[in-house]
Amino acid sequence: MTRPYYIAGNWKMHKTRSEAAELAKSLVVQLKGGKHTYLVAPGFTCLETVGAIVKGSNILLGAQNMASEEQGAHTGEVSVLQLKDLGVQAVILGHSERRHTYKEDDELINKKVKLALRHGLEVILCIGELLSEREAGQAENVCETQTVKGLAGVSVSDLERVTLAYEPVWAIGTGKTATPEDADAIHAYVRGVIAKLYGKDAAEKIIIQYGGSVKAENAAQLMAKENIDGALVGGASLKADTFVPIALFG
Ligand code: PEP
Repeated sequence: MTRPYYIAGNWKMHKTRSEAAELAKSLVVQLKGGKHTYLVAPGFTCLETVGAIVKGSNILLGAQNMASEEQGAHTGEVSVLQLKDLGVQAVILGHSERRHTYKEDDELINKKVKLALRHGLEVILCIGELLSEREAGQAENVCETQTVKGLAGVSVSDLERVTLAYEPVWAIGTGKTATPEDADAIHAYVRGVIAKLYGKDAAEKIIIQYGGSVKAENAAQLMAKENIDGALVGGASLKADTFVPIALFG
């Protein structure tokens, strides 16, 4: 089956509103007519500004995280209701920086996944192993556990609003990319995990992005692989000059 390619830019903790606006305007112009699915995920403070610019374009508005509770006494957190109020359509959950720097575990991430889906958002659920886990031969196991636990309690119909992003932690922001073959092997394995959980149809349909030092030079080779359906791009998403060639590949 042919799955649509889905290219997302995670702007992380970069950009003021005016910088974000400049980039968003440029992307709206340059990605117009682009044949893939696109998303940008600016920081919380830029969501409203960027949302107004991408509205009506072919670029979805994403957030980089959200609270696990709907609302209440959670100082410093941002709720799903607040994201929806800003027009956010999707949320990245379980990013390795959330898992490893901010110690989010699979249970917390699963709570967020279910909350986002309950409120009609799309989810990009990130999974991926550390270098030490890969070297210990544990890459598949780690990705399987993160997938199974991250999706616990998610129905097959809600799964249609979930994208997976395989991001080996050792490849994020390091300039090291998994080879297309190594990445594809994990994608195929994870697709098998989805087949076990949800059946073959759901597994064929689910989009699995690759993330980890994706740039114009390696994007096409990665996405040519059978099981790689797009990219979650960090560093190279911060400039139109580096993101657009990835987004318009093929
Ligand atoms: C990311 O943070 O999701 C990511 C893949 O970053 P980079 O492209 O910079 O490796």
